[in-house]
Amino acid sequence: MANPIAPAEGMEGLAATITEGYQTLKQITCLEDVYEIMDFLMDETKAKYNNIRCKVDCAMCCKGLHPPYISVIEWELILYYINEFPQIIKDEIIRRARFYAAEYRDSLILQQNLIEGKIPAEEVRETYQTLAQSLKHATCPFLVMDKCGIYPVRPAKCRAMGNSLVQIEDTVKVHTCAWEISNFEDYMRQQGSRALTMPVWNIFEKVIEIVNPTGSMKAVMPIWLITHIRGNSLLEEPDPKPLIAL
Ligand code: SF4
Repeated sequence: MANPIAPAEGMEGLAATITEGYQTLKQITCLEDVYEIMDFLMDETKAKYNNIRCKVDCAMCCKGLHPPYISVIEWELILYYINEFPQIIKDEIIRRARFYAAEYRDSLILQQNLIEGKIPAEEVRETYQTLAQSLKHATCPFLVMDKCGIYPVRPAKCRAMGNSLVQIEDTVKVHTCAWEISNFEDYMRQQGSRALTMPVWNIFEKVIEIVNPTGSMKAVMPIWLITHIRGNSLLEEPDPKPLIAL
């Protein structure tokens, strides 16, 4: 997919860097390489757009209708990472996963149906509104004192949030939280132009889809977590298509 946005004024250098990053994506063979390119492009973008207020200890996008849906290879990295934690932290992760599944069971099922395309197109908007309402007090189970507890292996969507664009059908939007969207509206008003030069999330999503095993599941992190608990332990290897029994 080509970048749908023409370079904004003064952003030609960034546009060239992003295009080069997309070219490099064609040669990648593993998720870590995708993450490396993403992190580089997101840093370059943030350096050019001084108005971006996302910072390491901002957790706005880790609350409410979040955490994001992720693929099995993203989950695999997280699972290996958390399995290295001391038992006391693993116990806390398991406790949080069980709490989340119990508290938000219906929302998780609805979210999964949405991810799997089981919601009719005319009901998608309303479903998002229902989820935004029912998950408004939810936080990602990996959020610890407003910091990401799995930062080195956080999923692609978390890396892209705040510094990228997302294309939904014919519309291109800044891929960020509601607070930052209004910040970007102010920025574009001041610039007198709606042109933005930023990496496009859909391209990374497509590449990650290609490096995933065919037919594997996509789900939000609490679903991956809860399906990888047996008794009081975390499984050591990911199941690409676990049975979802909440
Ligand atoms: S994985 Fe980390 S960055 Fe992503 S939503 Fe959870 S706490 Fe936030």
